[in-house]
Amino acid sequence: MEQLKIKIYQCGKTGELFASTESWHKCDCEKKLIAETHEGHTLTWSNGQEWGEIEHPHLGKVMTYWQKGTPCYDTYTAPIVDGDGCLIVFRFDHDEGYWVDESVINMGYYNGIDTASFGGY
Ligand SMILES: [Zn+2]
Repeated sequence: MEQLKIKIYQCGKTGELFASTESWHKCDCEKKLIAETHEGHTLTWSNGQEWGEIEHPHLGKVMTYWQKGTPCYDTYTAPIVDGDGCLIVFRFDHDEGYWVDESVINMGYYNGIDTASFGGY
């Protein structure tokens, strides 16, 4: 599968981050390159406990995790870079037995790190 390459820049005027795949940044500033990544880039959890693999309708079979040292209710995918250059996490509700679409967690733009932690970024 062809991977969509994404660069994350910082606007030289406002300091806002944006992705090369977005079109809203139109000013003539000297933008600064923050990170390079691609759609589907997957990070690891520094404090995640493996729960097991679950079939996801779009992602296929994915490992899910929860925060080490806490009770296990829902489990989460590793953070994945989406087409807008943002890190997103999918939550699986084990009481209901399905992926909760409304609760996709957006952790903001990818900034070059490869390890994220539950309860912080
Ligand atoms: Zn700018």
